[in-house]
Amino acid sequence: MPFRQPAVIRSRRAVLPDGERPADVLIRDGRIERVAAYGSLTAGAGDLAGRGDGDLVDLGDTALLPGLVDTHVHVNEPGRTEWEGFATATRAAAAGGVTTIIDMPLNSVPPTTTPAGLEVKRKTAEGQAWVDLGFWGGAVPGNVPDLEPLHRAGVFGFKSFLAPSGVDEFPHVEAADLEAALAEQARLGALAIIHAEDPAVLAAAPQQPGVHYRDFLASRPAGAETAAVARLLDTARRTGARVHILHVSSAAVLPLLRRARADGVQVTAETCPHYLTLAAEQVPDGDTAFKCCPPIRDEANRDALWEALANGEFSAVVSDHSPSTPDLKLLPEYGGSGDFAAAWGGIASLQLGLPAVWTEARRRGHRLADVVRWMSSGPAALVGLTGTKGAIAAGCDADLVAFDPDGEFAVHAAELHHRNPVTPYAGRTLSGAVRTTWLRGRAVDTGAEPFGRQLARPVNPPATEGS
Ligand SMILES: [Zn+2]
Repeated sequence: MPFRQPAVIRSRRAVLPDGERPADVLIRDGRIERVAAYGSLTAGAGDLAGRGDGDLVDLGDTALLPGLVDTHVHVNEPGRTEWEGFATATRAAAAGGVTTIIDMPLNSVPPTTTPAGLEVKRKTAEGQAWVDLGFWGGAVPGNVPDLEPLHRAGVFGFKSFLAPSGVDEFPHVEAADLEAALAEQARLGALAIIHAEDPAVLAAAPQQPGVHYRDFLASRPAGAETAAVARLLDTARRTGARVHILHVSSAAVLPLLRRARADGVQVTAETCPHYLTLAAEQVPDGDTAFKCCPPIRDEANRDALWEALANGEFSAVVSDHSPSTPDLKLLPEYGGSGDFAAAWGGIASLQLGLPAVWTEARRRGHRLADVVRWMSSGPAALVGLTGTKGAIAAGCDADLVAFDPDGEFAVHAAELHHRNPVTPYAGRTLSGAVRTTWLRGRAVDTGAEPFGRQLARPVNPPATEGS
């Protein structure tokens, strides 16, 4: 439902920075001009009189949320576009209520580890994106001289792996590389985002290939996460770098983070919908749609992640959408072996993060405002976009989502907009349906290509805006 601006969106359940309440939201020129009392604004009349025709969208009891900010998405284009691309990933994002994504620096070729690599990414994405799009850089062995130009060119920070990444062109950092990269990032004031698994612990773990998930889980023990995080925190403490632990899967790392914070180390962490909503006990033999690294762990661990989330120990819940083709997933329904050891490790479900998290959050007594903090305002703050993204507040972009908290739907992989029909949520019934996604006040119609694409814009960190 595209509408002219200025416009009013009215909901009895608007999720505002200070909580959920009935409100009218006035939109002008793509921004939220004002949040007013429910029923107090009339589009095209009253205080809008003489300013052109407006529209009023009354959502009734359907909730109005700020668009989600997903700071952890692997788009893979160019180079592995058959795994995922800008058009398909951002269309899935829009359909799932995500209005800003930040693309990871690897799995595309070239990776985003040089200014030239960033330029290739930006050129490739141009005109393809359905939602706003920004980029992470990568810190790999030998590219310390590239970090400053990448930072100036507008990446949101730098990703490093402490264990092999899964692709040859994005090698992991050893102790000396990590030290050098973090020292440079401390100098630049950049955010270092880290895949924290320890290669020595992984190498010592039992390696039993096959279709049994418990064997795969044993090959990626929680100790790999805690060892890597401990090492990272030491380096962060020495260099003064700001570090962010990506996709925390094991709750055992949380005490380490608490101690480091108490010690003055600047460390934040994220977790992902799949760690919060799925559990090792449920993974069927051979269903490699569930494979990711670090892995989905047991139910007791999942409960501990929820407790940490409730206590504010995670800054963000983000998708880590990292798809591949079904054949690389070795999925049995595509004739694959279902071997967890050999399958590509990555969860594809960008479009389902909001309903997946809401389904489980509601069951555990959480509110929509909590989900908005974890998936919208939290990640926006992580990447410095507070004031522009992640809130229904005056001055923010009018990136909004009409969300029916009670709408139930069954997941069919082939109906999702990401490129390949793979998802571990296939066959599940989730609560929470995205009815409309607005990007800067314009409804994105994901059913009617290519309307939405005209709306999307690049996003940059505030310090480098316009550079
Ligand atoms: Zn990732």
